Amino acid sequence: MTIMNAKQMIQNAREQQYAISAFNTNNLEWTQAILRVAKERQAPTLMAISMGAVKYMGGFKVVANLVRNLDEAMEIDVPIAIHLDHGTFEGAKEAIDAGFTSVMFDGSNLPLAENLTKTAEIVELAKKSNVSVEAEVGSIGGEEDGVVGDGEIAPIDDAIQMAQTGIDFLAAGIGNIHGQYPENWNGLHLDHLSELSTAVSNAVNHPMPIVLHGGSGIPDDQIKQAIQLGVAKVNVNTEAQLAFHQGIRDYVLSNKDLEGKNYDPRKFLKPGFSAIEQALNERIDVFGNANKA
Ligand SMILES: [Zn+2]
Repeated sequence: MTIMNAKQMIQNAREQQYAISAFNTNNLEWTQAILRVAKERQAPTLMAISMGAVKYMGGFKVVANLVRNLDEAMEIDVPIAIHLDHGTFEGAKEAIDAGFTSVMFDGSNLPLAENLTKTAEIVELAKKSNVSVEAEVGSIGGEEDGVVGDGEIAPIDDAIQMAQTGIDFLAAGIGNIHGQYPENWNGLHLDHLSELSTAVSNAVNHPMPIVLHGGSGIPDDQIKQAIQLGVAKVNVNTEAQLAFHQGIRDYVLSNKDLEGKNYDPRKFLKPGFSAIEQALNERIDVFGNANKA
């Protein structure tokens, strides 16, 4: 059993300047694809599940048990954390109860004082169950907000206060956004990241791992620079979704789905999941977390 909390793997990454991959899953085969890649590459990985995906897959217990059972059945031999992505306050508590080993409480849309209080409450609960905690300041934009040229930039004072709640890793906006990046995007604010990373690390007396959300579509060289400056976990969601979609689309348009018994979902969906594996492998090449088990 290699299911554990994410604290140590991300701290190791922070100290040795690589990043742990956090890959979002959506269903059984997606989860298998992520675990297969993690094992093949010997890459410590967070199996990330959004609130929406938890609902889609049948609830917190279904997800936690699915990942645990697959970890055992597939003889996974690298550290894997079962991580709630952008959890609500109630969602984070439910995830801890259901056996998740890591939770993100996202109170970034709340007034700062309330975000800090609620995060501290989740930290207290999580520590009792040996669960790692991520929190967010300076909300990270997304495609739902319409056209965006720039993501939000987290104020450094806010980031310091959040780090001091006892969280294990911090999501802070540095111009990154969720979903596909618009053409007029201004790039990551690496100077701000550098300043923020140093300030929060000084405040807690250890190198604080920073989390980069919206990792799909940021140029590789910017991701690598961000890792040098303190990013130790990168979230990848959209990239795998796009790869899955393209894989299935190519398959259907080639009419191969009409051959033999390729209507069998086990065959019909395979090109999509193979495409996911390829996309995730490419991310690991950039993050540098292969052979770090
Ligand atoms: Zn995110």
